[in-house]
Amino acid sequence: MIVGAWRPARVADVAAATPTARVLTLDVPGWPGSDAGQHVDVRLTAEDGYQAVRSYSLGSYGSAERIELGVDEIPDGEVSPYLVRDVRVGDELEVKGPLGGYFVWRPGGGAPVQLIAGGSGVVPLVAMARAAADAGAAASARLLYSVRGPDAAMYRDEIEQLAGHGGVGLTWAYTRRAPEGWDGSVGRLDDERLRGAVWDATLRPDVFVCGPTGFVEHVADALVRLGHAPERIRTERFGGG
Ligand SMILES: Cc1cc2nc3c(=O)[nH]c(=O)nc-3n(C[C@H](O)[C@H](O)[C@H](O)COP(=O)(O)OP(=O)(O)OC[C@H]3O[C@@H](n4cnc5c(N)ncnc54)[C@H](O)[C@@H]3O)c2cc1C
Repeated sequence: MIVGAWRPARVADVAAATPTARVLTLDVPGWPGSDAGQHVDVRLTAEDGYQAVRSYSLGSYGSAERIELGVDEIPDGEVSPYLVRDVRVGDELEVKGPLGGYFVWRPGGGAPVQLIAGGSGVVPLVAMARAAADAGAAASARLLYSVRGPDAAMYRDEIEQLAGHGGVGLTWAYTRRAPEGWDGSVGRLDDERLRGAVWDATLRPDVFVCGPTGFVEHVADALVRLGHAPERIRTERFGGG
């Protein structure tokens, strides 16, 4: 499998995911396939030759030569505003990957799976939830998704579908604004809310936590306080505070 080379990637589709995020579908000839949870590096080259590289998780998994990225715009960022606002169908980017062999879920492990996302950190966890559903293991997976408000949730409709009919166990956590009729609390996840939403530590779940660095560290520390073994908690930090 060649992962070290830059490959041309043609934008096949762009879809609004939230007011600040888009899902980009890219055709990548020769793509070697990926496991759920992996990421790519994306390289942009300006007309004057200036290049910028950033990492983006794959919402897709498997062997198709079509991959999916979910990008949330960081205000004043260099790359994400371009990907969210300016990229058009037919544009060419370059990608390298798949990258990352640690933050990966493969079917068949037997342990329950706990997915915990903050913001755009849901992207690789959607790949894992899709993989679990495709493997008939959705009922052993839970997703806790923390967002500022209901409009900030990427993949909301698909996540609700994956959670339907004995599928992935789903808990929403709202940090700033809750939907009308919400009777839970609003604010940063605390130990009590985490305990109520995630598989109990005694079940020894495989835990995947992804999102902004501060969110990931806060959640990982809380999970350890709740008795989860540090070696079963895998984290992916997207940056920021
Ligand atoms: C393995 C990996 C996978 C990633 N996957 C995704 C993904 O699926 N979707 C996605 O939207 N992003 C993802 N990211 C983050 C992405 O790589 C960029 O960091 C992000 O898009 C910002 O790039 P930028 O050029 O717009 O901002 P920059 O110009 O690089 O940064 C501008 C400012 O924003 C801050 N900043 C950078 N990243 C963040 C952040 N995540 N949150 C808050 N502040 C930040 C910087 O510290 C800086 O002050 C991933 C990062 C990693 C390491």
